[in-house]
Amino acid sequence: MISRMRIFLTHIIPSAAYAAHLREGVPNRHSPLGINAADSPQPGKSRRAQTGEDYERNTRCPRPIRLGAHALYIPDIRHTPNRFYPLLCILIFTFSKTIQMFIDTHTHLFTEVFDTDRKEMMKRASVLCSALVLPNIDEDSITPMLHMADTWPELCFPTLGLHPSSVFDDYQEVLKRMENLLETRTWYGIGETGLDLYWDKSTLPQQQEALRIQCQWAKSMDLPIILHSRDANDETLEIIQQEQDGRLKGVFHCFSGDEAQAKAIYDLGFCIGIGGVVTYPKTHLRELLRTLGPERVVLETDSPYLPPVPYRGKRNESAYITLVAEACALAWGMQIKDVGRITSKTARKLFNLPETQPA
Ligand SMILES: [Zn+2]
Repeated sequence: MISRMRIFLTHIIPSAAYAAHLREGVPNRHSPLGINAADSPQPGKSRRAQTGEDYERNTRCPRPIRLGAHALYIPDIRHTPNRFYPLLCILIFTFSKTIQMFIDTHTHLFTEVFDTDRKEMMKRASVLCSALVLPNIDEDSITPMLHMADTWPELCFPTLGLHPSSVFDDYQEVLKRMENLLETRTWYGIGETGLDLYWDKSTLPQQQEALRIQCQWAKSMDLPIILHSRDANDETLEIIQQEQDGRLKGVFHCFSGDEAQAKAIYDLGFCIGIGGVVTYPKTHLRELLRTLGPERVVLETDSPYLPPVPYRGKRNESAYITLVAEACALAWGMQIKDVGRITSKTARKLFNLPETQPA
């Protein structure tokens, strides 16, 4: 219960304040996300004007909503019709069993920075997320990742791959050893793989070869591939276009490209992963999301990296996914629970995650 209270105070209140603030169209000096009122879906128009009578009806009082298998009473805390409403929200949120409405499709919770408080961090994540996809980085991270998958089997879903920044001279032997592991247990994806020209351009040929090998794994195992692409969107797209024979599916994680690249990704049948960057004041992502719509988007945190506003410079964790979802909700002009429902459905299908059992 303590961790629920803490999440409410540190996550829900800031995002609710931000949403209410945008709804009012107030200048953004105190916005916790630091985003301008002009960033709301239609500048100058209230959200009521945009969503019509349904909006009016939905904001009156908390209603039971069904989130997958969980029938829960959760108010939409972005709307505060009277002064007792926040108190009601706190009570309902604190005593409700779970509000697992999100899937974090990219989170490195096995890294050492969580060693001191991993259980508490997982408690916070488990309140909000019904599944956490853990992408592997290199050989060393396999054991801690699998330990997490075995400790929280209903929450943690491991994937296997070699990150482009971990491609060194011995990458072929490393990939051989990893390939032997593919048959040893259930994996939910291949990756994190891809291309990274930000840190090291000199290893591009090796990175490309490693990516192609992992594309083969993904195709032969019928698993989605998780693509990291930093300063290399076009180069990564080129390889996926060459490798796509109808069997390849996956996600461009932490997508930060332009509209043409997003369209090319969609043409390939891939999804895009949206993380904390969507909350940054200067990003173009909110504008782009308005154009793209929610159907092919999955949410992620990339913890412990890329924390959303207002946690920039700190350790990121999966519970902060509410802030990513809230920014998406505002971009799409929809309620946060609908963002959770739509993106989780896409993620569950892409990674073939088991349906959650009733709590
Ligand atoms: Zn990552």
